[in-house]
Amino acid sequence: MAADCIFCSIVDGSIPSRTVYEDSETLAFLDANPLAPGHTLVIPREHYARLDDLDASLAGSVLETLHELVEPVESAVEADGSTVAFNNGPAAGQEIDHVHGHIIPRFDGDGGGPIHAVAGSPPELEESELDSIAESITDSHDGE
Ligand code: AMP
Ligand code: ZN
Repeated sequence: MAADCIFCSIVDGSIPSRTVYEDSETLAFLDANPLAPGHTLVIPREHYARLDDLDASLAGSVLETLHELVEPVESAVEADGSTVAFNNGPAAGQEIDHVHGHIIPRFDGDGGGPIHAVAGSPPELEESELDSIAESITDSHDGE
């Protein structure tokens, strides 16, 4: 539990929420300022700031809850699809530093953009730069 964290306060019940799902590790509730009807947030109960702060097991639990809820959220508001995403860190627009995944219902012709629209100007990268970035990621990750 982190002091002054709105989402920790939702977990401990001191701030109300429209909770739609809970289990021992995760909680999901409606976003208070929805970008679309049914906009839902999924959080780990424990406070971590960023997705990469979660261990693999807890990250898996958060993804399981997102996976579990996509269909019920979409059908509750008769959506045609959904954008499922994390703002990971302040540079990416994360305003609440308790990691949370968004399920944002989407509707044909809703005027919103795809994930491709979230970044600034796309960079122009040489083949050698792409190779070097790929190599750097491969060399630094923990997985097999
Ligand atoms: P982000 O920009 O990814 O940090 O998103 C934070 C989200 O939390 C925003 O979509 C807010 O509308 C939402 N939010 C803020 N306070 C509350 C609250 N008390 N209950 C539910 N959602 C909230
Ligand atoms: Zn928190």
